[in-house]
Amino acid sequence: MSKMLQQRICVLGSTGSIGVNTLDVIARHPETLSIYALSAHSRIEQLAAQASATGARVVIVPDEAARKRFLHAWPAGQHPVPEIRIGQQALCDTVAEAEVTTVMAAIVGAAGLPSALAAAAAGKRVLLANKEALVAAGSLFMRTVRDCGAELLPIDSEHNAIFQCMPQSGRATAPTQPARGVRRLLLTASGGPFRTTALDQLASVTPDQACAHPNWTMGRKISVDSATMLNKGLEVIEAHWLFAMPVDRIQVVIHPQSMVHSMVEYEDGSILAQLGQPDMRTPIAYGLGFPERIDSGVGLLALTALGRLDFEEPNFDRFPCLRLSFDALATGQAACVALNAANEIAVDCFLNSRIRYTEIAGVIEACLDRITGMPSTGLDSLDDVLALDARSRRIAAELCLQKA
Ligand code: NAD
Ligand code: MG
Repeated sequence: MSKMLQQRICVLGSTGSIGVNTLDVIARHPETLSIYALSAHSRIEQLAAQASATGARVVIVPDEAARKRFLHAWPAGQHPVPEIRIGQQALCDTVAEAEVTTVMAAIVGAAGLPSALAAAAAGKRVLLANKEALVAAGSLFMRTVRDCGAELLPIDSEHNAIFQCMPQSGRATAPTQPARGVRRLLLTASGGPFRTTALDQLASVTPDQACAHPNWTMGRKISVDSATMLNKGLEVIEAHWLFAMPVDRIQVVIHPQSMVHSMVEYEDGSILAQLGQPDMRTPIAYGLGFPERIDSGVGLLALTALGRLDFEEPNFDRFPCLRLSFDALATGQAACVALNAANEIAVDCFLNSRIRYTEIAGVIEACLDRITGMPSTGLDSLDDVLALDARSRRIAAELCLQKA
């Protein structure tokens, strides 16, 4: 008999790759897990199908046009239409409601920051997939988790692996110091689709090639981030905040098979690793079931069929975005906000064929130079962070226009 808690869940970004995997895991546990609210920004017909299948009581859409589309798509004769709410404030209000125990923060980009922070401020169990929230506002976010008694469970596969390999004492959900006995965190990275592509061919790669990840199926933005390894850079910053780990004790290791999801190195020479299929339902099920282990639907990892595990050093000439991320973390929070914002703009321009793949790093670097050269304001509040994020986006958009 499972001791799993009854949970009523709000899935933010339910139509995305993480959202769909989350609904898949939840559907396997109808006796303990139920959906209270779902949100989506586009693909409103898919949202209506999800809400009807799960019996969601609330849905949150971006605007009035999306509300109409939702009503139009609602299957006639089905149970009552869910309450439809609109906009960012509705996301923040919904996660804080008493009915909600658990929030899956799976919106992509800094757009997910206000609602993820609101879930922490309301003291909920927060399953955090939205790494950009921690990159843009790590100290504010972690302070909020601590002060408001939230429970923070990392869903990003690397951080979930590290969480699983941490000593019990290091599992406090928002530590202020590195766990005792831990020497370093070893973050694994697949190296993405261009790990071995000739460097002189990178300037002509297409968005579809960049999104064709060898091991994982993900949203388009994070897929491009995996190709540039900016994703691993964001994850270094994410690990710094989640585990209170100094940057010089976080190492990135390329591991092309994506079966070792990350490792913790201890003072006594032990390295603990978490292995599994590259399927996000494993970390999602870990977060939903914690501290129990529950079925995720993921098959076994056949080690003998796999045969070997390879590890190599990342090359900063091939992956300049990784170097920029380490530099931003060393420089400070304003640089991390700018890194993330400039990347979101540059990746969007690349996906719309307005800049080349190899220009992404240049846009980020030039934006970082401009932002870190300006007098820095305090970044203690959400408003400060969002203002700097907006300013960085304007600068990055100008830089992209100059390249187009
Ligand atoms: P996705 O693009 O597949 O889905 C994004 C979701 O967010 C969609 O439901 C979309 O409607 C919603 N959304 C987009 N823009 C929005 C906005 N401005 N306001 C409100 N909602 C908005 O992305 P994904 O791959 O599921 O990734 C989601 C988050 O999880 C990202 O932060 C990503 O870095 C992180 N993550 C994803 C994976 C993965 O395997 N996909 C792994 C680790 C971490
Ligand atoms: Mg990851």
